[in-house]
Amino acid sequence: MHNFNAGPSILPKSVFEEAARSLLDFNGTGLSILEIGHRTPLFQAVIDEAVALLRAHMELLPEQEVLFLHGGASTQFMQVPMNLLDEKARAAYTDTGVWASKAIKEAKLFGGVDVVCSSKEANYTFLPKEWTVDPSAAYLHLTTNNTIYGTQWQDLSLFYEKGVPLVADMSSDILSRRVDFSKYGLIYAGAQKNIGAAGVNIVVVNKNMLGKVSRPLPTMMDYRAHIEAGSLLNTPPVFSIYVCLLTLRWLKEVGGITHIEKENERKAKLLYDTIDSIPLFRPTVAKEDRSRMNVCFVMEDPALEAAFLALCKEEGMVGVKGHRSVGGFRASLYNALPYESVVAFTELMKQFAERKG
Ligand code: PMP
Repeated sequence: MHNFNAGPSILPKSVFEEAARSLLDFNGTGLSILEIGHRTPLFQAVIDEAVALLRAHMELLPEQEVLFLHGGASTQFMQVPMNLLDEKARAAYTDTGVWASKAIKEAKLFGGVDVVCSSKEANYTFLPKEWTVDPSAAYLHLTTNNTIYGTQWQDLSLFYEKGVPLVADMSSDILSRRVDFSKYGLIYAGAQKNIGAAGVNIVVVNKNMLGKVSRPLPTMMDYRAHIEAGSLLNTPPVFSIYVCLLTLRWLKEVGGITHIEKENERKAKLLYDTIDSIPLFRPTVAKEDRSRMNVCFVMEDPALEAAFLALCKEEGMVGVKGHRSVGGFRASLYNALPYESVVAFTELMKQFAERKG
């Protein structure tokens, strides 16, 4: 099978194998990873190593804390403004897709929100570059990669010049390319694409950002409480965190973000070059904003789409149907997807075009 799912999505085969072994016998203990207590030295070693690996991969500053939390990236849409946006203050948000607009909706429950740019009118097919931010904004929120539409900020320095703390939803491209992660006040990401298994999300927060809002915070929503408890305020998703550890180890073994970035560029280039070279297919987003993680395209003749989808199914290509708000096709090329899968997919595109052309 070639798995192009948008998330949960493909993970390295070695991760599946090790996780499967640990379901029966974790580290030779005779116990399953599913039955060990979260307050045991066994699990403490898992979470400590996962945090250390993430810190190393991302080259974080000492004041940037790493948390493993529940509730998916969607919970961060509310937890971020609850912790960082006072009722009378304002935050700036970029509206570049459905996930960004969901973040905007939640932030409005807690304080003022300035939507500084939006490409909604164009069905989010490009990323707006000309806009300003009020320097008094509590923070500026961005989505680094728009999973549904297939756009990705290629030049993040645009944000670094705005002079306000940055909060980024990196759910669908974290660890896929080199980013100066030290520039961010807060980063969050659901694990189920490039980090590991669904059920946990990663939050990297600069602790200097915290403790500035006047509202009382429920304990489970308070980043400071999670920092103090080392992500063990309550029972964490033990297995999901363990799968993150295995995936982070794999990333280190293959050569880290520097290596995987080159692989991801190679995969995306092959697919975009193929789409551009076949008149039957049409990419859906502005060229300069093309995502290297989620490649979206349609067919010039929509009547042919069902036939190509059926062929993909026959040939074991999974997850290539586009999101309902874009239509057509979306192939997700996350870190664990082998180059060979992109070769197989592009060969199928060529074959199909020859037959139909
Ligand atoms: N943000 C982005 C960019 C996403 O792609 C997703 C999920 N695909 C989410 C947020 C929501 O994540 P979750 O389902 O973990 O809440």
